[in-house]
Amino acid sequence: MLKHLKLTTIGNLFFSFIIIVLIVIICSNFILNSKISFINTKWELFQSEQAEKAHLENSLHTAIGYGGLIHEFKNYILYQNPASIYKIYSSIGAVHSVLHQYKHLKLSTAENAAIEDIKALLGRYDIVLKQVTQLIKQNKTPSEIDTVVQQVIDDTIAINSLKILHEQIPQLGDFESKVHIIADLRAAIGYAGIIRYFKNYIIYYDTDSIREIEIKLKKSLKLTQEIIIKYSKHNLDPNSAEEIALKYIESMTQKISEIIVDKKEPQKIDEVIQINDKDLVLRGLEMLDKEIATQLTTHNKNLSLAIKNGIQFLEISTFIMIIVILIVAIFSFWLMKWHIIAPILRIVSKMLIIIDNQDQEFTIKLEDRVRDNELGKMARSLEIFNDNITKRINAETKLAETNKEMDAYLHHIDKLHEGSEKQTEQVLELAEELSAANKYAEEESHRANSILSAVHDAIITVNTHGIIENVNPSTEEMFGYRAKELIGRNVSIFMPEPVRSQHNNYIHNFVNGESQREIFTPIEEIAVSKDGRNFAVEITINTMKIIGEMKIIGVIKDITERKRWEKEIKRLAMTDPLTGLANRNQYSLQLEEATLLFKRNKQAFALLLIDLDKFKPVNDTYGHQVGDIILQHIAKVLKQCCRKIDTVSRLGGDEFAIILMPTENSLDATVPAQRIINQLLKPVITKEHTITIGASIGISYSNYSDDVEELQRQADIALYQAKESGRNTYCTFQK
Ligand code: GH3
Ligand code: MG
Repeated sequence: MLKHLKLTTIGNLFFSFIIIVLIVIICSNFILNSKISFINTKWELFQSEQAEKAHLENSLHTAIGYGGLIHEFKNYILYQNPASIYKIYSSIGAVHSVLHQYKHLKLSTAENAAIEDIKALLGRYDIVLKQVTQLIKQNKTPSEIDTVVQQVIDDTIAINSLKILHEQIPQLGDFESKVHIIADLRAAIGYAGIIRYFKNYIIYYDTDSIREIEIKLKKSLKLTQEIIIKYSKHNLDPNSAEEIALKYIESMTQKISEIIVDKKEPQKIDEVIQINDKDLVLRGLEMLDKEIATQLTTHNKNLSLAIKNGIQFLEISTFIMIIVILIVAIFSFWLMKWHIIAPILRIVSKMLIIIDNQDQEFTIKLEDRVRDNELGKMARSLEIFNDNITKRINAETKLAETNKEMDAYLHHIDKLHEGSEKQTEQVLELAEELSAANKYAEEESHRANSILSAVHDAIITVNTHGIIENVNPSTEEMFGYRAKELIGRNVSIFMPEPVRSQHNNYIHNFVNGESQREIFTPIEEIAVSKDGRNFAVEITINTMKIIGEMKIIGVIKDITERKRWEKEIKRLAMTDPLTGLANRNQYSLQLEEATLLFKRNKQAFALLLIDLDKFKPVNDTYGHQVGDIILQHIAKVLKQCCRKIDTVSRLGGDEFAIILMPTENSLDATVPAQRIINQLLKPVITKEHTITIGASIGISYSNYSDDVEELQRQADIALYQAKESGRNTYCTFQK
């Protein structure tokens, strides 16, 4: 809530606070004044009471002490003059009167008790006075009478009571101490002092008690003299009433002292003392009382005057303080109102104007700008702020105009942009395509490299001079060279002689289109590796132009394995698997070849068809496995019976064929036929059996027919004839 306080409110509050403070100060000052007046009144009352108490104490001592009750009572015991009775009663009455006056003052409990004790003492004096009168009639000596009196009256109570009353008067200053000294003086010469012990000295002069009394008397005299000296220290004027009074008392003490020293007769002492105490000592005491009363009045007047002056000073100072506070308050209010709040409000109002019209251009002038303080700075800052706003508005206006022009330009550019956007789109599309193509090319290149690296074939790029420019990893593996050994060398390095020597010509022809060789047509060649090993390869040649230059790319496949398989397949295709002899295919080829050869050189060859006799029963009897063993045995025998150039083949089942090639001499097939028959007659010994088998042979000669089919038919006829003629024999076809 306080943070929203307005400056005017703060100013009013400030002024209100000052007024409130002022009122509080005035009120408190008024209360203080009244309190001080009250205290003053009380003080005066107290002072008068204390003075009254001191006065009453003196009166009490007068009535009870020296010249009073004890004085007269002792005189009555001593001189036994009946006139003393009247004086004693008069003293008792005076004491009562003084005690009665005490009742009008404010007394403490101790004072009240002391007064009551003194009253009781007075009652006992009344009783004992009658006893004394009786004793006087009985002619008792003063000492005897006083002894009786002391048995009835306990003086210590009265002495204590007087002490209490004396002590209850406080010592308030120099003057008050003088009053006390007088009281002390009265006590010293009074009831419990000189007069008592002096009278006792006379009364007990002839008794044993005199020594004790004399000591007490001397003590009282000494005390009195000390008090007089003490009083004299209060700068007393010479020949003043106080000085004279003190001299009277002092001379009384000196005379008593002299009497004690001179040991005078009691009657003579009495004469001296009676004159003195009546005329001088009592007068001195009265003079002191009067003097004190006068001084007391003067002192009280001075004190009251001082207090009144103090109060007056307080009032004046309060008035001045109020005036000063009022002036300060009005000045502060004026300062705050006209030099803080008003300028701030003016600046704030200008601020509000600026805020409300911040989009408009105007100038402000603040009168507070001339102030050389924070408010002046604030006003000047506000003016600068407003100037900046004006500049901003100008700048914004110019910016708006510029924006308009910019908009027009942008509009124009937009139109241009629309046209160019389409072109850009096309360019972007092209770029995308190009990017895709590049990417594809990259992928292709990558793929090609991967393929080149992955393929097992050697791929070799050579220039038109047969110089190797690039090889793939498989080339290194295939030929045993490192790529760097091959780059720059002639590709003929891979070729055995004589091809190697001729290769440059071959390249030349190929490049110039003079070669018959078709590209992409694989050819089989023999290649040579770094370690001189020859191996079969299949070479595919291709050409391509790289940066306008023709390159020849040869893909070389190692076909060593393939060749081996081909050979094996061929072998399997031409061989009877059971016997290892040529099979019917090879037989047919060989027969055709032999026929062709015969047709060329007319050298006859013979064809022998062999069929085992009664082989089926062997199978049936000994089993097929034994039959196979027999067949293998037969094949071996046939091979042994022929030359290498002859072809021994198994045509199937138990049927064999032998192409007997021509010899230098005339060919006679019967010899080997008979030899075969003879060899076959030998029994075949297996693990378990011994088997004998024979064979029938049909022979035909090429000079009877150069037709393969016919030649076979003729041999077959001859075989049939051999079978027919009893088996285990041979027959030759006869035309
Ligand atoms: P012939 O004297 O008239 O020639 O009578 P043959 O018992 O030899 O009977 P033929 O020549 O007509 O039959 C051939 C037999 O050869 C039939 C078959 O049991 C046997 N045979 C054919 N091929 C095989 C073969 O691969 N292994 C064995 N163990 N026997 C075969
Ligand atoms: Mg047979």
